[in-house]
This record gives sequence, structure tokens and C-alpha cells, in this order.
Amino acid sequence: MSDTKELPQFPEPYWRDNLEIPSFPKLKEKISVDVGIVGGGIAGITAAYLLSKENLKVALIDAGVLLNGTTGHTTAKVTAQHGLIYDEFIKHFGEEKAKLYYEAQMEAKEFIEQTTKELQIDCELEEHDAIIYTNSDEYITQLENEKKAYDQLGIEGELIDTIPLQVPHKKALIMKNQAQYHPLKFLKVLVEECVKNGVQFYENTTAVDVEYNKHPAIVTRDGHRIISKFVFAASHFPFYDGQGFYPTRMYADRSYILAVKAKKKYPGGMYLSAELPTRSLRSVTINGEEVWLVIGQDHKTGQGKSTIEHYHALQDFAEAHLGVEKILYRWSAQDLITLDKLPYVGRISENEHAIFVATGFRKWGMTNGTVAAKLVSDLILGNDSPYEELYTPSRFQADPSLRKVVQINADVAKHLIKGKLEFTDNNIHALAADDATVTRINGKRTGVYKDLESNLHAVDTTCTHMGCEVEWNSGERTWDCPCHGSRFSYTGEVMEGPAKRPLERIDVE
Ligand SMILES: Cc1cc2nc3c(=O)[nH]c(=O)nc-3n(C[C@H](O)[C@H](O)[C@H](O)COP(=O)(O)OP(=O)(O)OC[C@H]3O[C@@H](n4cnc5c(N)ncnc54)[C@H](O)[C@@H]3O)c2cc1C
Repeated sequence: MSDTKELPQFPEPYWRDNLEIPSFPKLKEKISVDVGIVGGGIAGITAAYLLSKENLKVALIDAGVLLNGTTGHTTAKVTAQHGLIYDEFIKHFGEEKAKLYYEAQMEAKEFIEQTTKELQIDCELEEHDAIIYTNSDEYITQLENEKKAYDQLGIEGELIDTIPLQVPHKKALIMKNQAQYHPLKFLKVLVEECVKNGVQFYENTTAVDVEYNKHPAIVTRDGHRIISKFVFAASHFPFYDGQGFYPTRMYADRSYILAVKAKKKYPGGMYLSAELPTRSLRSVTINGEEVWLVIGQDHKTGQGKSTIEHYHALQDFAEAHLGVEKILYRWSAQDLITLDKLPYVGRISENEHAIFVATGFRKWGMTNGTVAAKLVSDLILGNDSPYEELYTPSRFQADPSLRKVVQINADVAKHLIKGKLEFTDNNIHALAADDATVTRINGKRTGVYKDLESNLHAVDTTCTHMGCEVEWNSGERTWDCPCHGSRFSYTGEVMEGPAKRPLERIDVE
């Protein structure tokens, strides 16, 4: 935790600070279970909890440690107000499916509330209204259309002219009785419950493939196997494609977060701007003090300006509208966005009956990740689920999907070629400490970072996923791929998939 008005030197999510999360060994042998889960975030852990309660034998592996992926870097609003979405969903999918989506989110919220009560979890779960506000005339019409969609779907909402925030605004739309919580305090208890139910957890264990014999087996980077009747890819970006063509159907989008002790008192509620640049707000209590979470500056991963500037933009916003006393934490994260904005949850591809996936939560995974865990558990247990068809990854919606497929893949092609043609021959010895550049070493495009002790770290910038060229992320000190969102440490280790292999290290002296 930092103690000044300046940005903390290193990113660190508040949720993980001072919270003891159980740790687990690496997988070192072949094991057999009913369900093998890859990924220790909200989707994987909630599914492990639900399935182990039904007496299934479950193993869950994570490439790093539990709850350090997007779930450890979220903002944890628990709401069905996912931006301006219901008017669009009614137009694209029809009223019935738009309503189902809303009901799925509210069921997830109820599951979190019920489980908190049942297991007596102290996770700061609080009810708040969710509020979208706008200062733009164009968006006023959109807010009005969204309110009509709320009325059509039976969602309790209200259009209002003023909100208790001192940010410029002309209109706002409330969704009543939503919630926020401390996601890791909640999920840590689910992990403990899973352990009681016999779930085997393994950390620092990366899944690289699925092999078929009689049953599917998850293959780990060290060559061990988890033989399972069912596999659940809850790895954020699916670690296994199963001919689902996920890289062509999703992109990764980042946002930035500051935890600010402010001069102004937090007025209650959870806020989101309708227009860009996105601004999102909620409060947390840290050591008995009220702290604002200020979130925003969304952009596609690996694209856009120097990432530290996104933190500065949030800092300026906070100074102007809340008055900064201290910035306690800063961190950033990314989530995956699908072609039609609905997550992909279910069988990984049409003909695949034993491998399931959950991805593409569009920065609304507290509810969608919970829905996914329940839906996949139901499919594994042979139960019907009202949400199976809505979320199936095999769906194909002509509009807006087709246009988006072309957009996403044209963008990937552009980045595949751009990096290869770019002329870069920067002088790495002129680098300042804590700075990075791209140069050519022996003809290879090479990324070089000089650390705070002036040691140079050089890596081949070709992403090991599909060969795009990674770009420097100054805010997190990582190399990020603009194509599918893989992220690597400055020493080349994978921090976030879909890449599974590190960047090649290059000697520089
Ligand atoms: C900035 C930001 C703010 C957000 N705010 C909200 C919010 O307010 N409300 C809301 O509802 N949602 C929010 N979200 C979305 C939500 O946080 C995510 O959708 C959700 O946490 C994703 O959970 P997950 O379980 O799918 O993935 P993760 O939490 O990322 O877990 C996946 C795990 O899989 C592991 N893994 C990956 N590849 C492999 C492999 N090959 N082998 C083994 N393990 C592997 C990773 O190490 C990771 O631990 C936000 C997202 C962002 C980026």
C-alpha cells in the first residue's frame, strides 16, 4: 500500500494485499478424477465447489497461484447492469433471450448472497444501486431506450436527472438493489470448502493440451496427465481450442484502477459512465477508512498509448472530481469480449461432449463467471439448464458477429504484419532505468527492458501463441500481445494466456 498522492511505483491489486490465500503444490504425477478444471478464478473455483458438493472427484490446476488472474484484479460489482445492453440484446436476440440473460445475472447475485449467508463469509457484501450516467445528448436517447428495455423485461429501474457525484452529467439510469463485495474473501472460503470436499488443487501447473484415449486427459507442461471424465477450461482464454476457433471470436480489453483516499465522501451507489472514456466508481473500506475505486481508460490489450498514461488520466479525473489525499493502490487487468457480447459457456465445440469452456465475460464475470460455473456443473451432472442455449459457444448470430469477425481478424493480420516490417534499431545502452525499447539483435525484433538496478533483459518479441509482435506495457512492466492479449513478464515468462510458452530470451551484453 502506498502513502502518497503519487502513483504507487508498482501495480498491486488491493484484494490480494494482506489476504492469506491457501497455497498448493505443483502436480508431479498422473492422477484420475471425474472432473479436471483448468483455472483458479471465479469460474473454476465456483465450479469446483458446486461439483464437489455433489460428491464428484475434482482436481483444479492453475498455471500460477489461485485467484491471481483477472478475478484477483477485478472491481467486483455484482450486478445485472452490464452497461447499456438490454436494448441491444432485445434487438439482436429477442425479448426472451434478453430476459434470460438478466435472470441469469440475478440468479448469480442470489447465489453469492445465499452462499455468503450459509457459510457465514465476511466478504463485505453490500447492497447498492447500479447507476449509468451520461453527459452527452446522444447517450440520453440511449439511456431512454435502455429504460424502455428495462420496462419491457420487468427490470426495476429509474431515469433520473441528477446523481450525488460531482462529475458532469445530464441523465442517469438506475438499476435498483445490486451489490458489491470483496471477491477474494468470498472465493477463499469456497477454496477452503472445496478442500473439505476433497478437491485436489495444484498450483504452478500449466495445462498445454488435451489428449484423448477412452477419456480426455489434461496434459501439463511438465508432461503429467489428469485423466478425467470431463474437462472444464476455466482458464480465462481457453487453454485448448477444440476447434472452437476462439482466437478469431474474441479480443482482450484492458482497464485501469486506482484506490483513492479522497477529500470527498463517497455518496453510496456504483457508477458507470455511458460514454468514453469509461469511468466506473465504487467504494471499499480499507483499515476502517472509506476508499474510492476509480476505474476506466478501457482499450484493446497491447494497443494504444504508453500504458502509464492511462493511470495518469485516472489520477487527473480523481483530482478534479474527488480531490486526492492518497493513492493507495494501482492495478490493471483485462477481460475477453466476444463477437456478440454474450459469453461463451458450454461444450467447447458442437461435437464435443466432455470438454467445457467458459470465457468472454466482457468485464462482467462476477455474475457471468458464477452463471458459467453453475451452467457447466449442470451440464456435467446431466441436469437441464435454462441458460444452455443462450450461452452456447456454438451459436452463430449473423449480426453483429460477421462484421466483428472481419474486424477482429483484420486487426490480427495488421499486427502480424506490422511488427515484422517495422524498422527498429534503437540504442539499448541509452535506455534509462525502468524503461524499455524495441530494437533488432541478429535480425530479430527484440524487446529490451532496463530494470531499476540497470540490468538489461532482452526477449524475442514474437508472441509464442500465433506469432504477432508484443508491445511494451510501461504501467505493468510487461510485454503485451495486441492480437489475443497474451502477456509476458520482462524476462519473458507467461503472465496471461492464451500463450503457454515463454518468449525466447536473448543475450545482450
Ligand atoms: C478491470 C476489470 C474490472 C472488472 N470489474 C468487474 C466488475 O465490477 N464486476 C464484474 O462482474 N466483473 C468485472 N470484471 C470481470 C471479471 O473480473 C472477470 O470476468 C472474471 O474475473 C474472469 O474470471 P475467470 O475465472 O474466467 O478468469 P481468471 O480469474 O483470469 O482465472 C483464470 C485462471 O486460469 C489460469 N490459467 C490460464 N491459462 C492456464 C493454463 N494453460 N493452465 C493452467 N491455468 C491457466 C490463470 O492463471 C488464472 O488464474 C472486471 C474485469 C476487469 C478486467
